[in-house]
Amino acid sequence: MGDCIFCNIADGEMDTDLIYEDDKIMAFEDINPKAPVHILLVPKKHISTLMDLENEDYSLVGHIYKIAAKLAEEHGIAKEGFRIVSNCNEKGGQTVFHVHFHLLGGRQLKKMG
Ligand code: 5GP
Ligand code: ZN
Repeated sequence: MGDCIFCNIADGEMDTDLIYEDDKIMAFEDINPKAPVHILLVPKKHISTLMDLENEDYSLVGHIYKIAAKLAEEHGIAKEGFRIVSNCNEKGGQTVFHVHFHLLGGRQLKKMG
């Protein structure tokens, strides 16, 4: 097992049920859900923060949004609404330093700012 939790999940070294998986990304439930639906969408490739994306990685972000929309539909939150969040670095609230996107829904989310 390496130091990065999400790399360990990608390598099958953690007992985590994947909701979605393909050759580039995976999705699974957040261990500490902040909403009735709280799914993490994660590239399998280790990229520490949004600031570390290289040109060739940006297509991953679009792909993650596409799969997030599909999962929102499957979890019944597409019509009522949901939020996609990606925290970057300390003041952004990032705690796991392997890029990921939170898909949150199933309750009224607070207005931002
Ligand atoms: P961040 O705070 O970096 O934006 O989000 C990291 C998220 O990963 C947190 O919401 C946290 O609950 C979740 N998390 C941390 N460790 C694990 C784990 O081992 N398994 C799962 N499923 N989620 C985790
Ligand atoms: Zn990693």
